[in-house]
Amino acid sequence: MSQAVEAAPVAHPLADEVAALLESFGAELPRQAEGSCIVRSPLTGELIVRVQETSPDEARAAIGRAHDAFLAWRQVPAPRRGELVRLLGEELRANKAALGRLVTIEVGKIVSEGLGEVQEMIDICDFAVGLSRQLYGLTMGSERADHSLMEQWHPAGIVGVISAFNFPVAVWSWNAALAFVCGDSVVWKPSEKTPLTAIAVQALAERVIARFPEAPEGLSTLILGGRDVGEVLVDDQRVPVVSATGSTAMGRVVGQRVAARFARAILELGGNNASIVCPSADLDLALCAIAFAAMGTAGQRCTTLRRLFVHDSVYDALVPRLKQVYASVSVGNPLEGDALVGPLIDEAAYTGMERALAEAREVGGIVHGGGRHTHGVAPGGFYVRPALVEMPAQVGPMLHETFAPILYVMRVRSFDEALDLQNGVPQGLSSSIFSNDMRETSRFLSATGSDCGIANVNMGSSGAEIGGAFGGEKETGGGRESGSDAWKAYMRRQTTAINYGRAMPLAQGVKFEIADEGSAKA
Ligand code: NAD
Repeated sequence: MSQAVEAAPVAHPLADEVAALLESFGAELPRQAEGSCIVRSPLTGELIVRVQETSPDEARAAIGRAHDAFLAWRQVPAPRRGELVRLLGEELRANKAALGRLVTIEVGKIVSEGLGEVQEMIDICDFAVGLSRQLYGLTMGSERADHSLMEQWHPAGIVGVISAFNFPVAVWSWNAALAFVCGDSVVWKPSEKTPLTAIAVQALAERVIARFPEAPEGLSTLILGGRDVGEVLVDDQRVPVVSATGSTAMGRVVGQRVAARFARAILELGGNNASIVCPSADLDLALCAIAFAAMGTAGQRCTTLRRLFVHDSVYDALVPRLKQVYASVSVGNPLEGDALVGPLIDEAAYTGMERALAEAREVGGIVHGGGRHTHGVAPGGFYVRPALVEMPAQVGPMLHETFAPILYVMRVRSFDEALDLQNGVPQGLSSSIFSNDMRETSRFLSATGSDCGIANVNMGSSGAEIGGAFGGEKETGGGRESGSDAWKAYMRRQTTAINYGRAMPLAQGVKFEIADEGSAKA
């Protein structure tokens, strides 16, 4: 499905580069775009392109095509479906540099993170190819004589993918690579802030589908726009699985609407992630890990480190060093230098950060850093100095997620105190501990330890690998994507009992003996 994209009316180097990149992916660039929305690069704040939104009727028609595609695709053997995903991975490998650059231009990530996002897509394709020969069911011992009992996994249908701006393409691949090998079709609504990388990826997917004989048209479909378009996907009875990544506010609405029609929601929502630094921690290692987890991606990862609990005995050895790192970290346009912190996505993110810092000051927080960074960057970009805030208690802005580089730091006097504080927020995505004490690390990973979906030892809260199931508890939504057995959410489970005997015993010893005059035995 081609997308309506119009080059910006005023020629600009970034707009020209984006147009060239999109063309290299085979994305069409129609001249006219009615009802279009404006896309700006956070690097400079300048207009890049106008992208036409999908109307609700067009979205419903796309869902219809995806449904037809599913009916055909589910009949293709799973290893052949894996072959399609292998080719998709090859396409991504060949286009890694260009797609990574487009991620940087559209989202503002530093170059290595833009490339890393594409690498993650390649990795999940590799994972899914292997999975295509391992969609295992179980056999169970039946309680009845001459019976067998087993479960098998069948394709579910259309997987609706709603994604957030901060991982504009990797989240699609986490879902789509699994969905395709599971025999599902995919309808994707990316963030309205990042349609360009989505258009590029859709073009690559279409290129692969076009040369794959068994792949039906409509197997991978893109619909563009904001909440209204997303709601078409959420409410459509033909979509049995909705995988929605974004804020908790979004998930609260989407989860309820999907549940109202008894479909399945995979919710990947906001985090408020914490690390605990214990007396035995390797502080050099902790410093590096904390710096990346808290400032990487300009604090715009769902797994970004937002709360740090440091034991009293090492606080004065660690926190002053951390403040120094915060004061010296390079902020700037990632395409023009070697900055480690790029811009925030837009002005709203900047005002959200300012508001949270003001709230922190009101409750006694001491703010180091923060504020707009204007030196050597385009005035239209919202660059900020990352902020480290020493907090007297876990109150106010520490209890919710502000999607910006703010790290709240607290002094704690015991491991138990730190653990209670870590778990004492509504979100439950990621957590980590820095300790060389086996009792502490084991307790942290135990049933009475971290209550998060991700619990790391001697590393930060961010930077997950695709091999594990990814997701979190509580207001993070409970969904799991990516590795391990997350594929099961993309299939429907069928329990099957087979009677290969001549008698008809009932389970649990129930007797139901009918009088049958015509029986051969009578
Ligand atoms: P957002 O909630 O504003 O938007 C996310 C997506 O949901 C967008 O595509 C948006 O158009 C769509 N949407 C919003 N309301 C909708 C509705 N009622 N029906 C259907 N679709 C709707 O989030 P954002 O600002 O793009 O991303 C940042 C948030 O995403 C943060 O909270 C971050 O923690 C979270 N996030 C979570 C994960 C995870 O795996 N847990 C990963 C990435 C981002």
